[in-house]
Formats: sequence, C-alpha cells, structure tokens
Amino acid sequence: MTITPDWYDSNIASALEQHSSPDDEQALFVYQLDALKSHLEKLQQQDVIKLWFAVKANPLSKILQTLDGAGFNFDVASSGELNQVLAQGVSANRILNTGPAKTKKQLAAFIKQGVETFVVESLNQLTWLNEATAEHNLNTGSAIKPTVLLRVQLQWQEGEKNPLGGNSLTPFGLSVVQWQSISLEQYPALDICGLHIFQWGNMLSNEKMFSLWAQMVTPLVELAKSIGMPLKVLDLGGGLGIDYLAEGQQLNWQQTIDDLAVIKAQAGVDELWLELGRYAVAECGYYIVPVVDRKENYQQEQLVLAAGINHLLRPAITEQPFPVQLLRDSKQQSKMFDIHGPLCTSMDKLGQLALPKDVDVGDKLVFGYCGAYGFTESMPFFLCHELAAEYVFEQGEMIPVRTAKAAASYLA
Ligand SMILES: *Cc1c(COP(=O)(O)O)cnc(C)c1O
Repeated sequence: MTITPDWYDSNIASALEQHSSPDDEQALFVYQLDALKSHLEKLQQQDVIKLWFAVKANPLSKILQTLDGAGFNFDVASSGELNQVLAQGVSANRILNTGPAKTKKQLAAFIKQGVETFVVESLNQLTWLNEATAEHNLNTGSAIKPTVLLRVQLQWQEGEKNPLGGNSLTPFGLSVVQWQSISLEQYPALDICGLHIFQWGNMLSNEKMFSLWAQMVTPLVELAKSIGMPLKVLDLGGGLGIDYLAEGQQLNWQQTIDDLAVIKAQAGVDELWLELGRYAVAECGYYIVPVVDRKENYQQEQLVLAAGINHLLRPAITEQPFPVQLLRDSKQQSKMFDIHGPLCTSMDKLGQLALPKDVDVGDKLVFGYCGAYGFTESMPFFLCHELAAEYVFEQGEMIPVRTAKAAASYLA
C-alpha cells in the first residue's frame, strides 16, 4: 500500500482512480465539496472575525456556491469576479471590492450593481469613489453611503525590526504619510471607517503571524487618530498558509482565533475581517494528469506530463511545488523525479518530487492543494494545448462542471 499523505483524502482516492476520462480530456481538476463544506463550517465556528472569500483563489461557480452556503462574504478585484459572484445569486451588499486598478468607470459600475464596501488603494480611487457615489445618488435619488477602508502599506525604518524581511514596495495601498494628507470632509459621500493591511503570504507559524499583526496595530491606530477617522473595521487580508512543502508546519485555527481576539481588542475595532483565499479552498482540490514520457538524463530521472504550467503555473512562479502522488497503488520505494510539462520552455516544471520507482508512461499523477491558485492562475494558451476539465466530487459522485476544451475553442 502506498502511504496516504495528509493532503490526500482517502474518501476521494478511489473515485479518482476509477474515473475514466472522455477521449478529449487529458487533465482534470476535482474539488471535493463535502470536505470543503465541513472545513468552512469549522472556520465559521467563532465570533471574532468576519470571513470573506478572496475570489481570485478559485472563482468556479460550485466553489462560490459552497462558500455562500457556509456564510462567507466575497472579495472581488475585477468586474469579471463581481459578475461571477452575482451570477451565483449572492447579493451585492455581501461583496467587497479590493484591487490596485479601479478606474472611475469601474467604481461607478460597481456602485450601480449594488456594491457598498470598498477597499481603496490610492488617492485617485478615493476621489473617484466619492464622485461616483455622489453622481449615483443624484441620478437615482438614492442615498447610499459606501463603507470605505483605506489600504495601508507599511515600511520599517532602517535598523528597525522588520517582521517581513526587506521593505519591498508593491502597488497595494499607500504609505501612512500619503493617507495622512487627506481630510475626511473632502469625501462627504463616503463612510471612511476602516483600514486594510495585507503584505505577507503563506504564513505557517501562529507565533510569527501574531507578532506581525501585533506590530501593525500601533501605526494603524495612530494613522486613524491623526486623520480623525473612527476605526471601526480592521481588515487583515489573507495569507494564512498551506504546507505545500510538507515541512510539518501548520496554523492552529483555534490559536489563530485567540490571537485575532487580542488584536481586535488592542485595535479597539468593532469588526475584524479576513479575506481568505488558499486557507479556505486549497485543500479541497486535486489535479490529475497522465505521464507521457520517462527518461534518465545525466543521472536524473525525468517525467514529462501531458500538461504542466499551462494548467498549474504556481510552482514556476513561487518555487513551491504542489505535493504529488501516483494515482494507482505501488509497493515500490520512492525516488526523486524532475516533473516537467509539455511546453517548450525550461520554466515548465512542476517540481522535483518523490514518486514510486515504477512510475511509468500511461500512469496518472494526482497533485494536492490545487483548490486554490490552480485553473485560473495558469498560462493555458501557450503552445495550443487543451484547457483542463473541472469536476466537483459531491456525495460520492464526480460531476463535470467544465469539460476539457481543445485549442480550437480559443484560437482565432
Ligand atoms: C489574494 C488576496 C487574498 C487572499 O490571499 P491568500 O494568501 O490566498 O489567503 C486576500 N486579500 C487580498 C486583498 C488579496 O489580494
């Protein structure tokens, strides 16, 4: 028997082994909705934080419906994401808009579609949102007043202890100094009542995450005070980690909640928000792909798969491979393989990972933690391969949501 790793749910293993792909389907994603549902229920058993789902992690309809059912609200960063969430029947007052590239036109459209909560990331965004709201109220006779959070990007002075390592500048939000230049009366159409900060990723240590959050409270509270805004809401983004590399590190959810209760009290806010991406959905997803070739090259075992970064880009841009397993049982010992995709670029590598020695052409591999940053965070068009299929696994059944599509479906 192959030993089942943590990420591989034995309830789905036999269904994946028995799945017979239609002729035009090479690779597929499968999301286990029953497991997702019980995971989300666990996350909701607390009254410390309000949970939003960062839609970019996985915008599939069935995933959004499951989050909706579990009482999550939604964080969208584009019109495409907004329309996809609305199409699932979610009401617009449960949607939050973040993102560095909001035009006035987009802000006006979001307001028209009923969105009332915005994280603003620049002075222009603040001005445009104020104007768009005033114009909307004038034209429609309504009196909406959007809830606005200012997104802050902190940097640490040279020599100061920086919990993040270096100060790397991003387009997300603005410095404290920039936000201190505003005066609230300039934006009478808006209810500016919160701050947003999120500049860390894939945190796996409760201690590290708590000390990071704790260091942010003072500068944020001071900023709010200095511009005379009530600090009712603090949004700490996402970044709760997944142990992609099997380092044996994992966040303890109860500890996370206890820590957040402390942060909430220290900041003195009425509401503390998180927008979870990977921590909500990564572990419910699997990606299955066949091996098309195996060879030894300069003493290194290499596997070539039917698809690689055209379906799963993340390993190439983060150097964090998704964990892998042979789909069938094997009693053989494991050895390390370089796992490549079909694209004619050396970037197309899904990792160097252990697999049973007898893995061969025609075998299928299953990758774990693919419920987040999989299908839509990829480069599907390069070299004209097919698009992956997407299935959900619900109450013991594999249900297709998106069939595989040949290049002819998207080439012009
Ligand atoms: C991507 C994103 C998240 C989710 O990040 P995870 O690391 O997947 O939890 C949350 N908030 C914002 C604003 C984001 O851009």
